Amino acid sequence: METKRLYLCESREKSINEAAEILKGGGVVAIPTETVYGLAASALDQKAINSVFAAKGRPQDNPLIVHIDSIEMLNKIAKDVPESAYRCAERFWPGPLTMVLPSSGYVCKAVSAGLSTVAVRMPEDKTARDIITAAKLPLAAPSANISGSPSPTTALHVLNDLDGKIDAVVMGDDCKVGVESTVISVSENSARLLRPGAVTVEMLKEVFDSVIIDKAILSEPERGERVASPGMKYKHYAPKTALYLVEGDSESFCSFVNGQGVAAVCFSEERDKIKGEAFVYGVESDPDTMAQRIFSILRELDLKNIKKAYVHAPEKSGVGLAVYNRLIRACAFNVVKL
Ligand code: AMP
Ligand code: MG
Repeated sequence: METKRLYLCESREKSINEAAEILKGGGVVAIPTETVYGLAASALDQKAINSVFAAKGRPQDNPLIVHIDSIEMLNKIAKDVPESAYRCAERFWPGPLTMVLPSSGYVCKAVSAGLSTVAVRMPEDKTARDIITAAKLPLAAPSANISGSPSPTTALHVLNDLDGKIDAVVMGDDCKVGVESTVISVSENSARLLRPGAVTVEMLKEVFDSVIIDKAILSEPERGERVASPGMKYKHYAPKTALYLVEGDSESFCSFVNGQGVAAVCFSEERDKIKGEAFVYGVESDPDTMAQRIFSILRELDLKNIKKAYVHAPEKSGVGLAVYNRLIRACAFNVVKL
């Protein structure tokens, strides 16, 4: 199949309408969002959802997030929505927060992968929301990459993985946040963090009395263990390069890597202290920069055919927790503590 490029610079409205028409007709379109590029399809169309799973090679038991443009759409998709979820929507939507809520049964079953719940998010990215509005549909949209590979944060990343396998790509800007949305399950007074993102634990505590951090966020689930968020059990985000996550201060990291003579994925402050090849993924004092660049850097390792690399781990707080969570999976839970 030929994958259409829908450009936004000259003909934004035309491209948005064209994306919406393809989606209404049951097609699959990659769209920019503020987190990562999403592979969108109508959440009401079983066949379209099957095409999403097929194009990505995504395991059937890993549910999709439904993207909406209004609270009316939320109320159609979810039922028994706790008051706290509306408070969260008020505070964080549109934005990089996904809430897992009881499903009303409005979206098709495959979206929830057989669970009784549905994950819902209202994206901040204007293009993403305009496409939902033009299509008048809730859109299921997992990351627009081949399942298991680093998530796509540019239109080019999408084409590298999915050119010829999907109907179209909306050629938007590079993603502002760079890691996927925060996912929480919600009850009246507490939230359980299932996946960390740019809406941090500290921010969630402004809305909830307590925020429980699911154990799967920082550790490998046991074989066969039931996890609250099915996506957590898969090896994820990984380049072909063998990666090791290294915890320790800057000085010990640099001397460890220099002693090993392999490539380093490090902070800008460390670049000049690394003797071998260095890939800078952010500024140590600013985890937002790490989130924004990490997936591009993981893809670059493969482009440069790097066989092995040590990655300096970020602090596990704020947005750093989201970056750590992606890296520990990209490193297949191989951690070196200095
Ligand atoms: P992705 O679509 O690649 O951003 O991944 C979506 C994430 O949301 C995965 O980790 C899923 O496991 C999680 N998710 C989606 N729907 C649900 C749900 N109903 N219950 C729990 N987790 C969910
Ligand atoms: Mg994904």
